[in-house]
Amino acid sequence: MRPIGEQVCSVCGERLFSPYAMDSPTGNPKCGMCLRVAPVFEQAVAFGSYEGSLRDLIHLLKFEGVRPAAGVLGRMLAEAMSKFAAGTQLQDVVVVPVPLHRSKRRQRGFNQAELIACAALRNVDHPERYHLCSQVLERKRETTSQVGLTSHQRRANLRGAFAVADAQSVKGREVLLVDDVYTTGATVSECARVLLRAGASRVSAATVARTLKVSAQNLELGQQSRSDEISAAEAPLATAVGT
Ligand SMILES: [Zn+2]
Repeated sequence: MRPIGEQVCSVCGERLFSPYAMDSPTGNPKCGMCLRVAPVFEQAVAFGSYEGSLRDLIHLLKFEGVRPAAGVLGRMLAEAMSKFAAGTQLQDVVVVPVPLHRSKRRQRGFNQAELIACAALRNVDHPERYHLCSQVLERKRETTSQVGLTSHQRRANLRGAFAVADAQSVKGREVLLVDDVYTTGATVSECARVLLRAGASRVSAATVARTLKVSAQNLELGQQSRSDEISAAEAPLATAVGT
């Protein structure tokens, strides 16, 4: 389980293949999606690629209820959060875990995003700059699984799913959304949208893992046997970039 060590979009964290687009005023690289339409959030950072042993560890926590996994994932999240430090001045930040619907939370017994956020705040530099506010967002309805949906369908699926339960806590303040996985950004975008409407000054996001565009090399490996697929998923990301 290693951090994303290659060139990624400075806004959404997507893997970039050269020649990647450059944002001329700042010199920060951006992916084509972010160049076309700026996301509602400021920046999204992630520790690693959602595959192999990192995906297994997240599943261990979420689906098998192995809570100590949250400690490890929290340390990774803290490392992802350190990626903000260079460009952004994070001060007095309201940390908001992406909520589960209460029926899902009852069923699981915990919200993995909240456990990971708690663990991360024990490991970040300058913990005094962060304030965990788990009750700010509310999931109004249970959304059907996002698996297999296009990004447009994901956005439609999430519309109206979240509401701000405590606008006072975010008014005029910087918010950091925390979740386990960033897939298409639909969840983070929808949460950011309602938070900004409630008066948050800026919204960024940090997740432990992110799905990344697969390189041509990895796609080829994926055509081979299952065992090859596993070793490809666990191979260092740097080798997957290709030239
Ligand atoms: Zn991007």
